[in-house]
Amino acid sequence: MFRKKTVPDDASLDIKSEHKLSNFGSISSIFKGNTSSQNVEPEPAESVSEEYVPLEADVVKPSTNKAVKLIQEVQKLEDRTIKPFVDYNEGLLFYPILSKIGEMQDNVTCLDDLVSDGILEKQVYEKLIVCPAHPETFSSSMRLYCPKCHSMNVEKLNLFEHKKCGYITESLNFDFSDHDNSTCPSCKKPIKNFEKEVRVPAMWYQCDDCEEKFDNAVIKLHCRKHEHDFDTNSGQFITTFSYKLKNSEISINSDTNQIKDELLKLLQGFNFNAKLNISIKGKSENVHEIPIYAKSKNSDESILIFIRNQSTGVDQSDMNSILVPKLDIDPTHTLLVTVSGINDGIENLAQHYGIELISEQDFSQILSRVEEFVSEWYSQKGGKK
Ligand SMILES: [Zn+2]
Ligand SMILES: [Zn+2]
Ligand SMILES: [Zn+2]
Repeated sequence: MFRKKTVPDDASLDIKSEHKLSNFGSISSIFKGNTSSQNVEPEPAESVSEEYVPLEADVVKPSTNKAVKLIQEVQKLEDRTIKPFVDYNEGLLFYPILSKIGEMQDNVTCLDDLVSDGILEKQVYEKLIVCPAHPETFSSSMRLYCPKCHSMNVEKLNLFEHKKCGYITESLNFDFSDHDNSTCPSCKKPIKNFEKEVRVPAMWYQCDDCEEKFDNAVIKLHCRKHEHDFDTNSGQFITTFSYKLKNSEISINSDTNQIKDELLKLLQGFNFNAKLNISIKGKSENVHEIPIYAKSKNSDESILIFIRNQSTGVDQSDMNSILVPKLDIDPTHTLLVTVSGINDGIENLAQHYGIELISEQDFSQILSRVEEFVSEWYSQKGGKK
């Protein structure tokens, strides 16, 4: 009986939560803490919790879902990196992605907490130079001044040399600004490729007020909001950070959605009624979250498929978490597929429990092993008829 179908995206972490409850417990506490202090709106996920079928170990708390959702959002991002957004006018630094999970966009704490949880990696994004008197204002721009009269009325000048004929002129004397369509004022030949045909042998500044020519202008930073200059050396640094999703089991899990879809198609091809991320009630009336469940359309036979990927390898606790639903639902076959290693003694354990273990380097190999298994089973069923 199918009581509930969860969003497929949640499944990868549903699986994880079964054997890593402690880890996500700490994440959930973070999200709870921050929500109450920073969010004016009531947490929308809380109300959803009423609809959840109470499951035993499979329960994913709504606050944990926030962390899960954030991770899923990060997986969609380029480089799996959350980058800061700086509002230079208001002097605000924020992370727009946080709004997607119902958090305030400047709630950096919840990102930092995911760093302590080993989910995200904090990296220096950039160093902003800010006004020493108004460090809260991020907006500063560079200004050039004449070293003699301190006028800002400074022009940048350079020489152009037409390589072909050797003619050299000041940029003011002739306009080479249209790079695609210019002619040399001396030899009158067309210049088609400015970069290649024209050299810039010298560059300097000239003050339009006092006519002074100089190589180095005085450079000042300008605090735009409070309208004053400050010395470049007196500026303060503000470090902004980006957050990169670590290459952990979570990133592996992101790929499990793909293998799940492939397995689903495979089973449907064998005339199974197959479902992803489904809640199944066992003999004990307890409900279990199953990543893949398929029932034959021709008989009472059924199959459960579990996916476990973790860097430390499949271990006994993984087997235990599978055994509970397997015994309660009692399908014809139970598969555990993984791209991770398998710890000592697990193969024996699987055999003892009647769980088929498929461990391969990559998903395509897993897929063909599952296909082999199902086609063999299917041909036996056909033989029975
Ligand atoms: Zn200032
Ligand atoms: Zn001047
Ligand atoms: Zn020329």
